[in-house]
Amino acid sequence: MTDSPRRALRRTAPLVLCVTTFLAGAGLAYATHPTAASSHAAFPPPMPPPEAVPALTRRADDVTPALDPEPTEPALEDVPSPTFAENLRDGMVITGASAHRILLFTFDDGPDARNTPRLLDTLDQLGVRAVFFLTTHRMEGRGAWAEQNREIARDIARRGHLVANHTHRHLQLPTLESDAVLEEASRADAVIAEVLGARTWLLRPPGGSRSPRVDRLLASRGYTQVLWNLGTGDPQVRDADAVVRTFTRVLAHRERSYGERGGIVLLHDTHAWSVDAVPRIVSWVRERNCALLEAGEELYDIVDDPRWFHVARGERDPSDAAPAARFDEVTLARRQGRLADETRQRCERVASR
Ligand SMILES: [Zn+2]
Repeated sequence: MTDSPRRALRRTAPLVLCVTTFLAGAGLAYATHPTAASSHAAFPPPMPPPEAVPALTRRADDVTPALDPEPTEPALEDVPSPTFAENLRDGMVITGASAHRILLFTFDDGPDARNTPRLLDTLDQLGVRAVFFLTTHRMEGRGAWAEQNREIARDIARRGHLVANHTHRHLQLPTLESDAVLEEASRADAVIAEVLGARTWLLRPPGGSRSPRVDRLLASRGYTQVLWNLGTGDPQVRDADAVVRTFTRVLAHRERSYGERGGIVLLHDTHAWSVDAVPRIVSWVRERNCALLEAGEELYDIVDDPRWFHVARGERDPSDAAPAARFDEVTLARRQGRLADETRQRCERVASR
C-alpha cells in the first residue's frame, strides 16, 4: 500500500446513495444520508471481550481493499495471515450498496450434499471465491447426513471461501424472544467453531428479516449483519435461465434507480438451478466487461471480501441508515488496471475464435 486508508478516504468524495432493500426480503428501507434520523436513541451496550475462539482466517493471496479508516490497521494484502472476520466485528449492517462495479457472490442455506460440492468445483474452475452463510442445524449431531455436511463446510473453507453464520435453525429472528435470537446466532457460531476451529462475526439473518431490537441484540454481541442488494429470486424459480435473467434485470434496475453499479449477489447452494446459473452469470459479467473496456468504462470486478461493502459503525446505532461504503481509490485503480489487462486478453481470444 502506498497510501494510508485514512488519506484515501479523505480524498474520496462521500457517496450519497438512496438504498432500499429491494428484493432483500427485509422490508426495511434505508436512506444512506449520514444524518438520517434514528427511530431509537439507545446506544447498545458495549461489546463483550473477544472470546477465546480465533476468528476465521483466509488466504491473503489476492489484493483486498483497506476500508478500515483506522490508520494503524494494515492493508490486508500486507498481512500474511489476516484475522479476516475480526475486522468486521462492529455490529454495522452491510447492505451491499456500491457505486462501483464490484460484485461479491454469497450462497445461503447450505451445506447441501447434492449441490454444494458441485458449486465448489464450479467456483474453482471460474477462479471465484465467495461467502457461504451456513445454516448449522445441518451440521449438528451424529448422523451420516450431519457428518457429510460438516465435511462440506471444511471443504468450503479449505478452498478459500469465507464461512459465515446464517443462524442455527433458519427462523425469522424478529419473531423470537431476545434470548432465542442470541441462542440462534451463538449456537451457529459454536457449531462453526467446533467444525472449523474458528468462529465468524458475519451473520445473515434468515430471509433478511430484521428489526431494531434484533439489530441491537446482534450488535451487542459484535455481529455484523450482511444483507444483499442483488437478489436473483432463485428460491422462486426452477431453472437457471430465470436466475440469470433476474440477476441482470436487478443489476440494471439498481444502477438505473439508485446509482448502485455493483453489490452483493444472493444465491442459494440448496438448488441445482442456482449452481447451474453461476458459470452463466460469471460469463455474462466477463462478456459485459469486453464491451465496457471498449467503451472505456469501469469494469465489473468480482471480489471475495465483504469489506468492499462495509462502513465502520463508529457511534451509530446498529439500525441507523447505513452510508454507502467509501473506497480506497488506490487499491480500486490497481485492481481495475489488472482487470483491464485480463479482460483485453480474454476478449481478444474470444474475438479471434
Ligand atoms: Zn436463508
